[in-house]
Amino acid sequence: MQSLQEKIINEGQVLSDTVLKVDSFLNHQIDPEFVMAMGRELANRYANDKVTKVLTVEASGIAIALATGLTLRTPVVFAKKKRSATQDPQAYSTNIFSFTRQEAVDIYVNKRFINDRDRVLIVDDFLAQGEALRGMADIVEQAGAILVGVGIAIEKVFQGGGQALREKGIRIESLAPIASLTGGRVTFTHI
Ligand code: 5GP
Repeated sequence: MQSLQEKIINEGQVLSDTVLKVDSFLNHQIDPEFVMAMGRELANRYANDKVTKVLTVEASGIAIALATGLTLRTPVVFAKKKRSATQDPQAYSTNIFSFTRQEAVDIYVNKRFINDRDRVLIVDDFLAQGEALRGMADIVEQAGAILVGVGIAIEKVFQGGGQALREKGIRIESLAPIASLTGGRVTFTHI
């Protein structure tokens, strides 16, 4: 998505060789019109896939997931993060290693919100090592639902998470695939 790549160049801050900050439009302040455009683009790519639920994880995925769900006219579910949720019989839960927090966290979704009749589209702001996606895909599987695919705003391709999940047969669409953040410069690629 050309406009997202331009926005990243103009407003993104490369904090290190692995971390990009986009807090002016997505992760702290939100640009509603722009996030809506991203959601529409992701929704269009899955327009024919009969999605019934959009799933993300709190907090930073919620805005773009909402924009996608609004276009697809589906509910949006966000997995919650907790120190320990694995004992809750009302919830599907799994453990992931959080890239931003650099610690293990449980994520969980109440069983009322995803079931075996759902066709789920997972949406998130970033794809790095793929832990968040792996956890959400695990929850979709626990629910017996179908994982239609994944929609990502910014994929840091060099961190390998996307490749590992694609090799498992998961369809992933990313709006801005990044090949490298080396030397403070953002270099985009094609997937
Ligand atoms: P993964 O689980 O794929 O390693 O990391 C994905 C999660 O970590 C995303 O939900 C996102 O919130 C966060 N994340 C990963 N890399 C970045 C980054 O470069 N910048 C920001 N702002 N968040 C990131």
